[in-house]
Amino acid sequence: MHNTEEKIEEKVSLNFIEQIIEEDIESNKNKGEIQVRFPPEPNGYLHIGHAKSICLNFGLAEKYNGKCNLRFDDTNPEKEDTEYVDSIKKDIEWLGFKWNNEPLYTSNYFEQLYQFAIQMINSKKAYVCEQTAEEIADFKGTPTSPGKDSPWRNRPIEESLELFEKMKKGEIEEGTMSLRAKIDMASPNMLLRDPLMYRIKKDEHHRTGSEWNIYPMYDFAHGQSDYLEGISHSICTLEFENHRPLYDWFLDQIADANKVRPRQIEFARLNLSYTVMSKRKLLQLVKENHVNGWDDPRMPTISGLRRRGYTPESLRNFADMIGVAKRDNIIELEKLEYNIREDLNKRAERRMAVFNPLKVVITNYPENEIEELDAVNNPEDESAGKRKIPFGREIYIEQEDFMEDAPKKFFRLTVGKEVRLRYAYFITCTEAIKDENGNVVELRATYDPESKGGKSPDGRKVKGTLHWVSAQKNEKVKVNLYDRLFKSEDPLKEEEGKTFLDNINPESLKTIDAFVEPSLKNSKIGEHFQFERIGYFCSDLDSTANKLIFNRTVTLKDSWAKMTKKGGGQQKGQKGQKGQKKQKKN
Ligand code: ATP
Ligand code: MG
Repeated sequence: MHNTEEKIEEKVSLNFIEQIIEEDIESNKNKGEIQVRFPPEPNGYLHIGHAKSICLNFGLAEKYNGKCNLRFDDTNPEKEDTEYVDSIKKDIEWLGFKWNNEPLYTSNYFEQLYQFAIQMINSKKAYVCEQTAEEIADFKGTPTSPGKDSPWRNRPIEESLELFEKMKKGEIEEGTMSLRAKIDMASPNMLLRDPLMYRIKKDEHHRTGSEWNIYPMYDFAHGQSDYLEGISHSICTLEFENHRPLYDWFLDQIADANKVRPRQIEFARLNLSYTVMSKRKLLQLVKENHVNGWDDPRMPTISGLRRRGYTPESLRNFADMIGVAKRDNIIELEKLEYNIREDLNKRAERRMAVFNPLKVVITNYPENEIEELDAVNNPEDESAGKRKIPFGREIYIEQEDFMEDAPKKFFRLTVGKEVRLRYAYFITCTEAIKDENGNVVELRATYDPESKGGKSPDGRKVKGTLHWVSAQKNEKVKVNLYDRLFKSEDPLKEEEGKTFLDNINPESLKTIDAFVEPSLKNSKIGEHFQFERIGYFCSDLDSTANKLIFNRTVTLKDSWAKMTKKGGGQQKGQKGQKGQKKQKKN
């Protein structure tokens, strides 16, 4: 049993949607049953903004023992496709959610919506209008001045019924007639000035084929679908706030007082810095080949993030961390990166890879001998065990880990200095070999056989530990180094003579060859790794045993954590990481 104080504290930590829902449960509204839905339009792949909405809706259903429908909002025949339907289902399942029963489609309700429309014509709440789109716009008025009534507004019921039937049968030309709701041409809310309910479209629909020649407008279809499904809370993004009076008006016309009446609640959509999220813009990036498809790892799509190496858990944690707000805001991309680092730090096995190789010959190590050394798979997870890595006379280290005239604080390799090779031995550099231009092309070193495993034999200390890969036994692989797709924090910011395409980062993908330890040959597609001292990577979809390809998910550097740890660089009144986590439920 909770005492009062605990109860109050719990309430405070709820977000505003949870508060509304808990009040409704407490007052036994709809018998305390919670039914929500996620209603994507199948006209593109889902993006990280949708992921937020998915986590919210499916999360509420989980939390309150309710149900969450998946409803494809397929009222726009020309832009929709089954490819999108399939990708949407896949992405939701991958995120770890289960929809209630079978997926639903607004197109399932076309007949019922049509009947609602006839009912409204009969009750003088709708009429067939013969104005063109231009005329309708002309008659609409402005936010500060009232509109004018359409000349067809008061036509007889029978006439509207007859024409609506003809529209349905395909006997009327597109753009010459529409069905409109009869509300108020002087309403201060422009959306209530006799909005369109149906328009004529003779396109094939991906599910209903050529059955229909008229299609309901979003505003007429959406709330009615919610009602037909018994949705208790219809959660949508803020831009629909001023649609709510219309949502309610339509329900007033058709809803049965004994049935569940859906309540629309709006929250702020997710905006991310350095990211474009509009499906129209994402489609443009794909169609014009600025990226390699919807699942290009630079895309903010769920499929792109998956291919990049993001995990479902990291996206769910991110959604939790940012919470739900009532006002629009922009979330720093660093927060998304913080969450994937946190998750991969726990689950990604460590491997060694060298991106810019510099050969080191260990002169006192026997020629043609290779030994297998033990390496820990994940210091964060003992159960991940160990693996063997080959070590021999010739190895590669990173070019940047050697410096000829090194400053005092350079703790890596320089002639005469000793460093530790991770999991291997202490080595001391004895000589740098140069080409005719004076560039260092190879190093000579000696090793201390007593320092096996990288352990000091006599307590002497070395400051630097380097990663390395055997030059004799390794795999040569391709690595895609992905970076932000856009250079500017706000890619859609309007600048004269420029479009968002001008903000594309030309360095967003660099592909390099790299050497990795042989154990990576057996990696599975999508498997995550931390390449020590470099970053998190995963093997790409196109990777094969003969041609290994890795994608960089994220670098090791965590600018968000750094920013918050130092305290100084905090942005926009944010708390530190821990504070972030606590903040989520505000
Ligand atoms: P876009 O603006 O990217 O084209 P949309 O709103 O047209 O997206 P829908 O398929 O209609 O895309 O969206 C399905 C659901 O996802 C809707 O309930 C919508 O509110 C929600 N949603 C879309 N974008 C975001 C976002 N950036 N943040 C949170 N929720 C979103
Ligand atoms: Mg939409």
